Amino acid sequence: MGKHRWAKKPKTEFTTKKQPENRTDDENVLRNCAQVLQVAGRELARGKSSKAIKQAKDILIAATEKEADLNRNDDSDNEIFDPENRHENDEKYLYSSSQWRKIIRLRDVEKWPLKRIIHYYRKLGSIERARRYISRKREELKSVRRTKMSLEDFEHIDKEVAAVIKKLDEESEFIHDDIISEIAMRAAKKIGKKFHPSANWVLSFKKRHKLCSRHIDVLVSNKKIEDSDKLRKSIDDFRKKNFSEMKKRFADDNVYNIDQTGIKLEPIGGRTITLKGRKRCTRKIQRPSALTHSITLHIAISAGGKLFPKTFLVLHEKKLPRKFSTIRNKFKYLEIRNTSSGLMNSNLAIDWVKNVFLPKIPKKCALLCDSWNGFDKMKRIPAIKRKKLFIDTIPPGTTSQLQPLDLFFNKQIKEFMKRMSNQIRLYHKKFAIAKRGNLLALYNLMLSRFSAPMFCEMIKMAWFRSGYSTAHPKPFSTPAKFCFTIPEDKLRCDNSRCRKESFILCAHCRKTKCFSHGLQHIH
Ligand SMILES: [Zn+2]
Ligand SMILES: [Zn+2]
Repeated sequence: MGKHRWAKKPKTEFTTKKQPENRTDDENVLRNCAQVLQVAGRELARGKSSKAIKQAKDILIAATEKEADLNRNDDSDNEIFDPENRHENDEKYLYSSSQWRKIIRLRDVEKWPLKRIIHYYRKLGSIERARRYISRKREELKSVRRTKMSLEDFEHIDKEVAAVIKKLDEESEFIHDDIISEIAMRAAKKIGKKFHPSANWVLSFKKRHKLCSRHIDVLVSNKKIEDSDKLRKSIDDFRKKNFSEMKKRFADDNVYNIDQTGIKLEPIGGRTITLKGRKRCTRKIQRPSALTHSITLHIAISAGGKLFPKTFLVLHEKKLPRKFSTIRNKFKYLEIRNTSSGLMNSNLAIDWVKNVFLPKIPKKCALLCDSWNGFDKMKRIPAIKRKKLFIDTIPPGTTSQLQPLDLFFNKQIKEFMKRMSNQIRLYHKKFAIAKRGNLLALYNLMLSRFSAPMFCEMIKMAWFRSGYSTAHPKPFSTPAKFCFTIPEDKLRCDNSRCRKESFILCAHCRKTKCFSHGLQHIH
């Protein structure tokens, strides 16, 4: 900056520089001097004059460096003096802030006459102009000092912003960096300070308060949030009244939960493992259409931990070929239907209760279902009354807390299918998973494994999570984990004369089977 200054350096600068501006600087200088004297005196007393001089010098250098640092920090708060960009009539651009500070000090503290100041700072021009500029600049510097943030202010703003962010987070509002700095700016304004948070400040703020950016799991409407208190109450009420009422009236084995779950034809997870830093990651699937098409499983489980023996499976097909009727009944655990959307509808719900559910249950059972409107017609059919089936409906919007199937079971189904498809894609490439016959065979195999008595506790877990049963189930292994973890001594198929590699472990009889024998091994 010095090279832009054309005015001759005032000779007095050296002495004025040493002149303290205010009391704290005064104290600093005194403290430094005292330290120098003390150290030098001590070394001199020991007869080591050269060491005394060296130490005194070190202290002085450190002190001047510190002061220079402080001055630099002061300057960084203000505009940088840019002579290229200056405007002759604007005192702001005549001199830099630190030069202005010096001018004002010369005028106010040193009591220099204006004429003498103009002699050294010629850009001030006439005495009239110099007086006007100096008084204006003096006011400006005062206001800067007034609005400058102190350490306490920073702490105050930090706390204030943290509180606001916490509230926004709880209210499910979007939060970004610019929102944090906006809130900080407002908080500073409230206490009469000026603060423009830097990107660094925002970064360290986030670090201090353990905030980080993450993906959003669920998007909800405003109304849903407002209703959440109401929902919590209705969940508690349902558990207290309806669940305990059902428990009193029905044995666990006679209480069922029914729900539908959609599954993609070729179940894959959205993730894979690849080398770090790879920009584009491609993975093979068998049939692209299998990713958009899905089937629906209509599964029932009992509170006693049993899978209902027949599961309704809705295919995503408008019309099934005639030859399909020959294999339709080959799948022990499946009752197969089809719709053009692959979804359930109210007619299918009636079909299910009439032809699948009611024939297989004793009289006086209970059925827990959600508020899906497809069930409305079904609930009114006379066959239900005849069988004295009690139906209770989970309040809308609470299924994620009260529906046993949603809470634990459906996840196990998806996990199992994913694990099985991964194995098939890797070792049995020619087997098209999404092909109708193959798909049904796989689901049949899966449900056969899920019906094993050893997974009773797993099904009970779903009821425990929903709050229906209060007894925690005993420890269990999940189907996906059990069936696809082949013991080391059973790496070959159990069928006599078949020496192929094991694909699946049977949860009923603990036999391991190769892929083709496994598909036929249904209990
Ligand atoms: Zn078996
Ligand atoms: Zn085999």
